[in-house]
Amino acid sequence: MRLTRWAAAAAAVALSVTLAACGSSAKTADQAPAAGSGSAAGALVGVTMPTRSSERWIADGDNIKKALEKLGYTVDLQYAENDIPTQVNQIENQITRGAKLLIIASIDGTAITTQLQSAKDNKIPVIAYDRLIRNSPNVDYYATFDNFKVGVQQAESLLVGLGIKKEDGSDGGKAGPFNIELFAGSPDDNNATFFFKGAMSVLQPLIDKGTLVVKSKQTDFNTVAILRWDPATAQKRMEDVLTSTYSSGARVDGVLSPYDGLSIGILSALKSNGYGTPAQPYPAVTGQDAEVASVKSIIAGEQFATIYKDTRQLADTAVKMADAVLKGGKPEVNNTSDYNNGVKVVPSYLLQPVVVYKDNYQKVLIDSGYYTAAQLQ
Ligand code: BGC
Repeated sequence: MRLTRWAAAAAAVALSVTLAACGSSAKTADQAPAAGSGSAAGALVGVTMPTRSSERWIADGDNIKKALEKLGYTVDLQYAENDIPTQVNQIENQITRGAKLLIIASIDGTAITTQLQSAKDNKIPVIAYDRLIRNSPNVDYYATFDNFKVGVQQAESLLVGLGIKKEDGSDGGKAGPFNIELFAGSPDDNNATFFFKGAMSVLQPLIDKGTLVVKSKQTDFNTVAILRWDPATAQKRMEDVLTSTYSSGARVDGVLSPYDGLSIGILSALKSNGYGTPAQPYPAVTGQDAEVASVKSIIAGEQFATIYKDTRQLADTAVKMADAVLKGGKPEVNNTSDYNNGVKVVPSYLLQPVVVYKDNYQKVLIDSGYYTAAQLQ
């Protein structure tokens, strides 16, 4: 049932991508945001990012700023260190300073409704960046990756790590049962739900069959979610699970981790409980973002896999959207069905994530110019 739904969702995305590629009029959204046409040159664009504590957001911010400045815009780029009131203030300041458009990667997707109303009152269009802004009608567009697919890929990489599947999706020969533990992202980040649902669409049938066993029995999203994606919280939870469930000798074979920062915390907890030796190798631990520390860990045979999301592409997509809106046009979108923010379906552009393993990081990350070989040494 779940697989069928996933197949339908995949088909819908494929169709919308095809429509976009064909240049069909379906690619533009119906509703025109309050765009300031004509006066785009030099306009101030407010960009707010959640935190500098993760490399990806630094790269996102830098890439957006550079690309907007290249087009002649002035950019105010702010980071809020995962503090909601700080982000709220930053957005308010940008509105006061006369920003003509806002690009927002929110910390809590439900916490900026008042600021967005004020943006609307000032005819300032808003683009949600990577994370959907929820419970507000005043979000014009959304640039992101296919978040459900990220979760599917995380689960598939876990199955590869366990030997159930091969990287090409064919049978890996191992039948289990395997002990796994589950982690999810921050419950206030809409993406976290999509990642988890995507992952469970692959894992749940195998849990039902007994191939996979969540030995702690902690499978509910709210139980396994890690507030603010905090690595230390994930480390603590892994330690607690090891103590409560694995202290009598059972082994953890795999861990679904939705973000590289959490994976590093999880691996530390495993290490201090005796994993990471030839006699007791690490379980297969997944990830997301292809952060340098995690790619190095993959190369060293510790973390098993990560999901690469080319932040250059995402920045480029958001900047193209911003430029179109500021010039009074309609940006290209390729999904007008999946991202309902609780008030409306936000027209979106979804990019494609890629799984990174030890044997393809060179091709995916270095040959593409995302990292230099030296950065990963
Ligand atoms: C992003 C992920 C990131 C996570 C933690 C999510 O909203 O989509 O790429 O790993 O936040 O920063």
